Amino acid sequence: MNTLCNRIDKELINEAEILLKESKQISIIPHSGPDGDAIGSSLALLQYLKKKGQDAQIISPSAYPLFLRWLPENSDVWIYTNMKKKAEEYINASDLLFIVDHNSFKRSGDLEKVLERASVKKIMIDHHPEPEPIVDLMFSDTKMCSTCELMYEFIEALGDENLIDDKISECLYTGIITDTGGLSYNSSQPRTYQIVGSLIANGIDKSKIHSNIYDNFSPDRMKLLGHCLDQGLEVLNEYNTAIIKLTKEDLLKFNYKDGDTEGFVNYPLSIQGMQISVIFIEKEDMVKISFRSKGNVPINLVAREHFSGGGHVNAAGGRSLDKLEVAIENFKKVIPDFYKSLQQ
Ligand code: 5GP
Ligand code: MN
Repeated sequence: MNTLCNRIDKELINEAEILLKESKQISIIPHSGPDGDAIGSSLALLQYLKKKGQDAQIISPSAYPLFLRWLPENSDVWIYTNMKKKAEEYINASDLLFIVDHNSFKRSGDLEKVLERASVKKIMIDHHPEPEPIVDLMFSDTKMCSTCELMYEFIEALGDENLIDDKISECLYTGIITDTGGLSYNSSQPRTYQIVGSLIANGIDKSKIHSNIYDNFSPDRMKLLGHCLDQGLEVLNEYNTAIIKLTKEDLLKFNYKDGDTEGFVNYPLSIQGMQISVIFIEKEDMVKISFRSKGNVPINLVAREHFSGGGHVNAAGGRSLDKLEVAIENFKKVIPDFYKSLQQ
């Protein structure tokens, strides 16, 4: 593929090359509760580094959903919570850490303190807003649809595009489609499709990947979705906003497994006129909140200012320590002013 890549700073890539050459042991850290982009970009990087003859290990702060466990080299991922001592030893003995698909140690979950303390060189590869200065080298670009897109650019800028084989391509393609709702949002740049084109040219089975990701749910998950939309939907027409919710009892009733609620928050956005959709999920120790919006509606501001979270303009997350109904009421109190600020 002819390269149009001027998205990566040359000096930065030279420094990364030097760091990589100097490193014998490398840890790759996705964010806590990794999604398709976090795990896809980590697995792509792992395979790339191994092809370069380097000793590398992915250490995920926590487990990730079943629908991602088919990815190439998935069995090589260490889950920190299952092997804390070994993982900490590996991290502390590393020469280099990659912080992938997140930009603050707060998003590293149980690894937060371990990473903070680790006196190891660090490189960030990420596409979220407001990166924190926690690394030696920062590859951070919110214009990328996904960290996987940036990872492609990173490997290409290192002059190693030819090492991106079908397996690495599968991982990168997975992150690109899971972060864009199957290339439906946040994916309007031609370059994304050039990259997708080259991944397809590398021999990925696109239909198989879509099927693995989107047709891999349990009957219980389907019923939970039905229940959630049937019982939990509230439409605030005045604010083009839809709210859905799940209680602890709902989760129990439908045998909730990690990842089952992934994507639920997107459904209300297909109601005519909706610009904002929010899901409140009651967990053991907090209410987990996911926010989605369309177009120029920076819903990450609401997540950041009112719900101890953050994220992208159109996709953000946060939490509340209040009871489920109180958290929802608090959101309803906030939304009129936020909505008004959009009209200005
Ligand atoms: P989700 O709703 O799928 O959990 O997250 C949507 C987006 O918001 C993801 O890109 C994720 O990285 C970001 N996000 C989720 N929770 C948090 C949070 O607590 N803090 C920040 N800064 N970002 C979050
Ligand atoms: Mn991402």
